[in-house]
Amino acid sequence: MEEPPSGQPVGVYGGTFDPVHWGHLLAAEHACEALGLARVVFLPARHSPFKPDRPPLSAQHRLAMLRLSLYGNDRFELDTRELDREGPSFTIDSLQDLSRAHPDWDMHLLLGADAIEGFDRWKEPEQIVRLARLCVFARGGHPPPDLRQLAPLTGSLPGGRQPRVVAIPQIEISSSDIRQRVRTGRSIRYLVHPAVQAYIAQHRLYADQ
Ligand code: ATP
Ligand code: MG
Repeated sequence: MEEPPSGQPVGVYGGTFDPVHWGHLLAAEHACEALGLARVVFLPARHSPFKPDRPPLSAQHRLAMLRLSLYGNDRFELDTRELDREGPSFTIDSLQDLSRAHPDWDMHLLLGADAIEGFDRWKEPEQIVRLARLCVFARGGHPPPDLRQLAPLTGSLPGGRQPRVVAIPQIEISSSDIRQRVRTGRSIRYLVHPAVQAYIAQHRLYADQ
């Protein structure tokens, strides 16, 4: 039996956002529309457990760039709980906090296709899929999302809670490419918000990473 949808549909969008770029923003906007989300909560990670080699830029700079990018969109919000917490950031901890703080939210976890590869190695993935519906974007430069790989985790969920693919315009933008472009003196115009481009230049970010 399918559970009736309950609560206010809210997107939760985790990432390192180092830096946030148009790919993130475009995906969030289209998810809002496709899923009828009342809001999208951007949840920057202090340190991803899957990116141990390179510590991200300071929380302060990543947050500043997110603020500049989200400004003016009433449905986009910033949640700093992972930045405020010591240690690596685990999505399940944040989802548990959020569901306690907002029992009226019907949470949708927004993920790019690359992020579901190895999702079974995340902390407590079987709890994650119970707390939030997985909504997966195709991502330029990556194979299309294959939800079958999630079946062992999600097979027993009711139909309305099954992971789904969200169609978005495909643009091949990544933070890694942006960092590399800055390092090698190439343009990042039209890849990030103009205010982020100015912020990176002003603070000389990514010049030597
Ligand atoms: P990096 O290259 O440093 O890994 P990134 O561009 O992948 O950076 P992340 O902060 O790692 O950005 O990604 C956060 C989330 O946004 C992930 O779920 C990722 O799949 C998704 N995402 C990032 N870029 C895009 C894009 N261009 N289109 C769709 N989803 C994206
Ligand atoms: Mg990434």
